[in-house]
Amino acid sequence: MSTTQTSKIEIIKAPTSKINEVDFENLSFGSVFTDHLFECDFKNGEWQKPVIKPYAPFLLDPSTRVFHYGQAIFEGMKAYKDDNNDIWLFRPDENYNRFNKSAVRMAMPEVPEDVFMNGLNQLLQLDEAWIKKGKGNSMYIRPFMIATGTGVIANPSDDYKFMIILSPVSAYYSGDVKVLIAEHFSRAANGGIGAAKAAGNYAAQFYPTDLANKEGFQQVIWTDDATHTKLEEAGTMNVFFRINDTLLTAPVSERILDGVTRKTLIDLAKSEGINVEIRPVLVSELVEASENGTLKEIFGAGTAAVVSPISGFSYKDVYHELPKIENAIALQLKDKLTNIQNKLEEDTFGWTVKV
Ligand code: PMP
Repeated sequence: MSTTQTSKIEIIKAPTSKINEVDFENLSFGSVFTDHLFECDFKNGEWQKPVIKPYAPFLLDPSTRVFHYGQAIFEGMKAYKDDNNDIWLFRPDENYNRFNKSAVRMAMPEVPEDVFMNGLNQLLQLDEAWIKKGKGNSMYIRPFMIATGTGVIANPSDDYKFMIILSPVSAYYSGDVKVLIAEHFSRAANGGIGAAKAAGNYAAQFYPTDLANKEGFQQVIWTDDATHTKLEEAGTMNVFFRINDTLLTAPVSERILDGVTRKTLIDLAKSEGINVEIRPVLVSELVEASENGTLKEIFGAGTAAVVSPISGFSYKDVYHELPKIENAIALQLKDKLTNIQNKLEEDTFGWTVKV
């Protein structure tokens, strides 16, 4: 990694810290932000001088492209503090590479590795007091990029702003999650932007998810747009199914986000001797497995919740309750993964990277 930019990051420190105003025992996910943010603008065809400065609102012209055409992407990743006060990232190269894949798909400039990584590392070091130790505690990291060029012309912007903001989070309990299998709505289509972390993908999910919430379901399991017969993602997570003792998950595609947690859980499960099949999983298979008692677990996998067990699903107005089982694979994998992330267990995979 080049370090040429490191010395060039201008650092403007906040005069006072907000940290004493924060109740770290009762953090609501993604609602509290640290004292500083990282910012780098793209203008005249190149990345400008990066800066770390106090977290604050900023002004944009009403015609700014991001407001009209949704040219915006983001990432979600976490940092952890160990007992020696060292800070660790989990597979940050995966998020960096996915960010730039999203950028390419949305006709935005790629962010250089030293801007992304050195900006992130220096920001984490500056706000390190906000990273709490202990299992389940972490710093949620939100890198994002928006089109800042002006003019209501449906063309890619010339100007962009890349930022990183940090939000301390504690262990995330999703509670009882019942899901509705999508029979009409889709989150992504072939040739579309489902594999990008583009802001509009999330806005497009809000309406169908709202409808599901009104029927008593917390999330939607998205199916393929063409036939609605293949199970693809659960809300904003990848999804795993356990039939007998085999874990099943769909292959990533143009419609499915290449989740870091998903690929990590696949490797972890295999290393624990669990049989994992990566192949299209049919709705009909799930219904049949539920009816014949071989469906044991469904769970979502993503950075925010790590693993989110699902208690039942509805399809064609029939609700299928999952059995309550001892030693759920979902919880075993979650435990193992959070131990590795929080440095409570040796990382034999080399996934954790010191800041
Ligand atoms: N699918 C979607 C649509 C998501 O937004 C996310 C969250 N980034 C995931 C899956 C899980 O990805 P990851 O494990 O990298 O957080």
